[in-house]
This record gives sequence, C-alpha cells and structure tokens, in this order.
Amino acid sequence: MAVLEILTYPHLSLKRRAEEVEKVDGEIRKLISDMVDTMYANGGIGLAAPQVGVPKRVVVLDVRPYDPSTSLISIVNPEVVAEGEEVINEEGCLSVPGCVEGIKRRRWIKVRGLSERGREIEVEGEGMLAIVLQHEIDHLNGRVILDRMSRVKRDLYKKRLQKGKGEGGMM
Ligand SMILES: [Zn+2]
Repeated sequence: MAVLEILTYPHLSLKRRAEEVEKVDGEIRKLISDMVDTMYANGGIGLAAPQVGVPKRVVVLDVRPYDPSTSLISIVNPEVVAEGEEVINEEGCLSVPGCVEGIKRRRWIKVRGLSERGREIEVEGEGMLAIVLQHEIDHLNGRVILDRMSRVKRDLYKKRLQKGKGEGGMM
C-alpha cells in the first residue's frame, strides 16, 4: 500500500498530455494499486496518473458513493468511442482545491481501453460514472476543470488561490 502525493494546480504535470502505455506490466499494476490507495486515502472517486506525477494514460475510479451499482474500475489507454447529449454537472477536482463549478459534460459515455491484465475492455456508464470518466480523461489530455470554465471564473479562482487553497474535490 502506498499513498502518493496529489499534485495541485498549477503543477506542470497537470498540463501535459500523458503517453500511451505500451505494455501493461507489473509496473503499471503497481501504479494502479498505488493510485487506488491514493484515491481512497483522499476520499476521492476518481484519479488520473498525471495527478500523481506519472505521465501515463491510466485512470482509476470508484463512484459507488453515488452509484452502488458500479464497482472499482481501472482503465489503461482509455478512449471515448461513443457519447450522449450534454449536461452541466457540479464538479470539484483533487488537484484544483477550493473550486467547485458547473462543467459541461456528456450524460453517458462509452470508453474502450485495457484492463490491468492488458485485456481489451469497454466501460459504458451514465451519471456520475460518465462524468468522472470524462474528468479523468481530461487529465490525461492535460486539462483540468479550470480549462472548461469561463475566463472570468478562472481568473477569480487564481486570485483566490493566492489567499489559500481550501478543500479539494473528489476526482
Ligand atoms: Zn481532477
């Protein structure tokens, strides 16, 4: 068990596009296990590898607090293959403390990727599962919720940040 440090905005690791994983090996499985520990230790429901300083396309999520019909999910190299209509959802981010904003997302989504055993998997979900998947894939592409907010709101957040960070979100 290892709980890693979660990097926060404006750390550069959050702004870079993460690399595809070429081989799902023991190192990736260890990363996934550490990410899961880190997510739970911080009361999170999702986490992407760049948030712990690893520039690889790996995400973990567990939205059971919102949707008991789901389970712990990890996806390597996730790729969106289908999506539904737009919705606005209130979101916070573990890497953007003190910021909760309405963010435009898709109501449902289908993602393809690899399991921690390297097998091809498809994850389809709606509601919170869909929102967190999109939020974590954004992290893999170097985007945080601030990049999906208006400039006015983003500038307000940056000003507030200088006075102290506040509580982190959950993903
Ligand atoms: Zn986040």
